[in-house]
Amino acid sequence: MTYFRKNIEQMVGYVPGEQPAAGERVIKLNTNENPYPPSPAALEVLRNLDGETLRRYPDPTAGRFRQAVSEVLGVPLDWIIAGNGSDDVLTMILRACVGPADAVAYAVPTYVLYRTLTQIQAGRCVEVPYDEDFALPADALAEAAAAVTFVASPNSPSGTVYSVEQLDDLAGKLRGVLVVDEAYVDFADGDCLEIVRRRENVIILRTLSKGYSLAGLRLGFGVGSPALLEGLWKVKDSYNVDAAAAAVGSAAFADQAHKNANAEKVKASRVKMTAELKTMDFRVWPSQANFLLTRPPDGNAEAIYQGLKAGGILVRYFNQPGLDDKLRITVGTDEQNAALTGAIKEIR
Ligand SMILES: *Cc1c(COP(=O)(O)O)cnc(C)c1O
Repeated sequence: MTYFRKNIEQMVGYVPGEQPAAGERVIKLNTNENPYPPSPAALEVLRNLDGETLRRYPDPTAGRFRQAVSEVLGVPLDWIIAGNGSDDVLTMILRACVGPADAVAYAVPTYVLYRTLTQIQAGRCVEVPYDEDFALPADALAEAAAAVTFVASPNSPSGTVYSVEQLDDLAGKLRGVLVVDEAYVDFADGDCLEIVRRRENVIILRTLSKGYSLAGLRLGFGVGSPALLEGLWKVKDSYNVDAAAAAVGSAAFADQAHKNANAEKVKASRVKMTAELKTMDFRVWPSQANFLLTRPPDGNAEAIYQGLKAGGILVRYFNQPGLDDKLRITVGTDEQNAALTGAIKEIR
């Protein structure tokens, strides 16, 4: 006897990275949060939120926030849809485009939520393995002819990016939707926004969780042609972006200078941390995100993960084939990163 649909009964729920209780003294390098505070302008808006704003339902279209995005990115308003984190936009895409047995394709390892959301729809996951260098298996992805194809760029957990040419070419081979998940774009050298202008089947996803230091606020958005967004508007939760998130997020997005300055600090720390790990003979994959995928020389990633955890430093260990000899480590402040590399030296 079960209360659930067969696919729900069979699936494993998404397991987020550990979140220690508030006040616990840990160095948290496991879920790719930004180590720096959000924009002071955004925090000012938060402090000034009044009861009247909260008494009423929010704008169901998050118009003010989308206007801020439109101005910064130079994209028309009706090409933008907002979500309660970009996870929410992912949910809308799957709800709108994927029914029972429909194929959803992506290369693995990548963001595990793509699998979870596909399984909720009773869709069929087509998982194409990445090679050791995380080169995009574009032909295999195209061959899957999926209803939805995901590419995270930069990818997690590898930090690798894929070019406009590669993704544009892939989009041209697909009849279904290509989702380019740019959650980490703020730490990368380029982006793929221009593709949406020529490919109606492409949607670009962005979030304020990483670059803008607002993971707790829950705000993200998608950019795509109005024809593609039409289906998403139909299936989204009515008030998916709350009034506080819309107000605070608008101010944060308008403050590009603050975001860019923090991203520069993270990028400089990424270079230093890469060099430090390499002196210890760790393999480090070239990353354009705010984390590094790294393999200790003897592959004893789990022991290092446990040792770090015992010493109050959290990193991400994925106990799965292809990743169980590696760690994904968020780039923190230089001070945090020094504590990390110091602790690794002690453990080994
Ligand atoms: C963090 C992340 C997201 C989503 O984050 P939200 O907090 O829901 O906006 C999406 N994709 C990838 C690959 C991520 O790492």
